[in-house]
Amino acid sequence: MLSWIKSTGKISMGKESKESLTPMIRQYHALKERYPDKILLFRLGDFYETFYEDARITSQLLGIVLTSRPVGKNKRIPMAGIPYHALETYLTRFLKKGYKVAICEQVEDPKKARGLVKREVVRVITPGTILEENILRERENNYLLSLNPSGERWGISWVDISTGEMWVWEERKERVSSQIEKLSPREILLPEDFSFPSSQGDWVITHYPSWSYFRERGEEILCRHFGVKNIEGLGLGGLDAGIGACGALLSYLEDLEGEIPRNLVNIRLFRDEEFVTLDPDTVRNLELVRNLRGEEEGTLLEVLDDTVTPMGGRMLKKWLLHPLRKIPLIEERLDAIEELREKSAEPLRERLSRMGDLERILARIERGLARPRDMVALRFSLELIPEIKERLTPFTSSLLREIRESLDPLDSLLELLRKSIVEDPPSTLKEGGIIREGFSSELDELREMARGGKEWVAKLQEEEIRKTGIKSLKVGYNKVFGYYIEVTKANLHLVPSHYIRKQTLVNAERFITPELKDKETLILHAEERIKELEYEIFQKIREEVTRYIIPLQKNAYYIAQLDALISLARVSLKFGYTRPEIVEEKVIEIEEGRHPVLERYLEEPFVPNDTEILPSQPILILTGPNMAGKSTYIRQVALITLLAHMGSFVPARKARIGLVDRIFTRVGAGDELLRQRSTFMVEMNEVASILRNATEKSLIILDEVGRGTSTYDGISIAWAVGEYIHDHLRARTLFATHYHEITELALYLPGVRNYHIQVREWGGKVIFLRKIKEGATDKSYGIHVAQLAGVPEEVIRRAREVLRDMERRHVGRKGRRVHEEKQLPLFAYRPHPVVEKLKEINLERLSPLEAFDLLRNLLEEVEDTD
Ligand code: ADP
Ligand code: MG
Repeated sequence: MLSWIKSTGKISMGKESKESLTPMIRQYHALKERYPDKILLFRLGDFYETFYEDARITSQLLGIVLTSRPVGKNKRIPMAGIPYHALETYLTRFLKKGYKVAICEQVEDPKKARGLVKREVVRVITPGTILEENILRERENNYLLSLNPSGERWGISWVDISTGEMWVWEERKERVSSQIEKLSPREILLPEDFSFPSSQGDWVITHYPSWSYFRERGEEILCRHFGVKNIEGLGLGGLDAGIGACGALLSYLEDLEGEIPRNLVNIRLFRDEEFVTLDPDTVRNLELVRNLRGEEEGTLLEVLDDTVTPMGGRMLKKWLLHPLRKIPLIEERLDAIEELREKSAEPLRERLSRMGDLERILARIERGLARPRDMVALRFSLELIPEIKERLTPFTSSLLREIRESLDPLDSLLELLRKSIVEDPPSTLKEGGIIREGFSSELDELREMARGGKEWVAKLQEEEIRKTGIKSLKVGYNKVFGYYIEVTKANLHLVPSHYIRKQTLVNAERFITPELKDKETLILHAEERIKELEYEIFQKIREEVTRYIIPLQKNAYYIAQLDALISLARVSLKFGYTRPEIVEEKVIEIEEGRHPVLERYLEEPFVPNDTEILPSQPILILTGPNMAGKSTYIRQVALITLLAHMGSFVPARKARIGLVDRIFTRVGAGDELLRQRSTFMVEMNEVASILRNATEKSLIILDEVGRGTSTYDGISIAWAVGEYIHDHLRARTLFATHYHEITELALYLPGVRNYHIQVREWGGKVIFLRKIKEGATDKSYGIHVAQLAGVPEEVIRRAREVLRDMERRHVGRKGRRVHEEKQLPLFAYRPHPVVEKLKEINLERLSPLEAFDLLRNLLEEVEDTD
């Protein structure tokens, strides 16, 4: 029952008193009451009709005419209908807009119905529970996520019923939204009294009764579904909120689908300590799977994805968003890639390219939505498995060996599919032509009968011509009258007396004979029975296939891995990547590193650069004028680090990468034009969250942080952030800024190193060399450019003066010391000890003599240190 689902108010019903309505509309109301928050598609002949508010939405959304229908005395209601055969196309549009749809069918033959045709809702489709091939995105998971907000650690659980994967986890509540954003589910299930603050993603929210989230209910439904005695048997002991989330998820699916999909055969713990955490801004700013405009173009995934199966594509994306944190697991992938580079992987890849989307075929089979062609695709896919195993024999790295040993050809299933289903079946399920000859003797006999009958009819024409002497006599068939004998008007006098007249045409008459009618009945009966029987047999085969869900999913999993590995190997060969060395030490050492995406898009050659981040000097400050290449460089280091953690080769001549636990990225407000919410406040919130969450194993990328405010505020903030990271976090940090003042941090902090991007002038033009050099930039660079541009010498000199003066005054106003002669920094890092002491003096308590003593001591101290 779904009646408790809260109405969204979007799809309200009319307020007519129901008694005055026609029976059919009363039937509609009864159904709609049970699905108040869904668009109800009400089957009426060849159309799915929508009424009331649903009709308005439908007509607007799909551009369909809004009409009306009489529903009683002088009463009409809004109506909009879509032709039944175009259902899938229209469904897509509803779901993309976030509507949920209930499909109501006529469940009895209208011809046979007495009175009102019986109707039932046969399927409810929500954005998180789609199985339709042409609505799902091939290379993306379609997650339905359930959130259980209780206590400090919230439970989350997510499934993709189109592939059969299911996860559960608990997360500190402030980190939940980041995890959700990364998964980008299509639908989120929440307790009814809870609202989720973030409205970032394109998901729909579904509210569900709070009691469904009780741990006890979760435990009960999980144990029932997986056939275990207790939760510990599933390895979920101790996960209270997570089990609650999972329980609600499963019972929601049970409500929608009538039962929990059987392809959910496995529940996995999402152990986030196994993966490098990428905060949502890192995923967005490094343009891992979507560029800043939200497209797939120009992303790291696009560069890496050379997969040939949808499963492989989805796997690669998962690897990219969940890089590994354990050296042996990373090395395992690297070993496999190295081997695939050495020995030819092309024959393997060619076979993979002929594989169907096993996971989704399986999901359709399980839900009874499979078409005959799905069975054929499954068969052809299984036929490839022995060949793939064979081709994998020369490979000895542990991951490839594991794949070979785990792939299961499932001979008995293959045998069944080969024997039962024809190779090129029709797309429809109820019109026959699916089952192979020789599979069912009953079917063969019926087909023989039908064939025999048709042959008899075919011979009849010849025979009757001979008997009657009417040369133009014809035997034909039409849907209304069945088989007939046609004689032209001119020959009517030759018609024998046992012919029975059936129909008169302009030039001819049609007759039947009792014999012909007998044959007809026989043929039609046989054909009808054939269709029914084929359908029954097909359902049996389908049921049989569902017994193989577990091994089939396993096959899909290993095929996906193999495809992803081959893709990484190919890409690494194509673009000259090398194998990184992964170490525990907190280093990032890169020789001739490149930006994997930019180098693909740039017309001029990409200039490679080195990187050296050592445990003793974890902070790198990069300065240079606008457009010099700062952002590119710091992102390139982050991307190479990330690639290494996903077990991929990297775009560099050599790389030695120390494990990281998290990657954080912040881009100064002004630099991220496309992000609407980017205000200085948001930027600072995010910086605060980095400073709270980063550890000494993290990698922090800061691009023009502090830019969103006035210059001196910005510099101060950037300065303080740098100091804090240095003193408290010691995280590896790359800090790009065009505030050259920040470079003075290095004077105080031993862990900070300055770099700048070289720029040259040539024939009066600025040339970006794109080369990173140790040291700070020339700070009067802007004036230098003016000089190059031919601004008179006098003006240049004056500009230098003004700049110096302004710097002094701004700093002076903030009450800091400036002694240019002594090369003291713009910001004194720590106040002079004498200043500290001065601050502590309480004049009221000092005698004149004490004051004099104190003054003398302080003077001595100043002389000592100066
Ligand atoms: P900044 O952040 O210093 O303003 P960007 O990193 O945005 O500069 O780089 C500006 C442009 O310079 C890039 O779009 C790219 O075209 C070019 N560029 C940057 N780095 C390189 C490089 N290493 N090799 C070649 N071109 C580069
Ligand atoms: Mg930049």
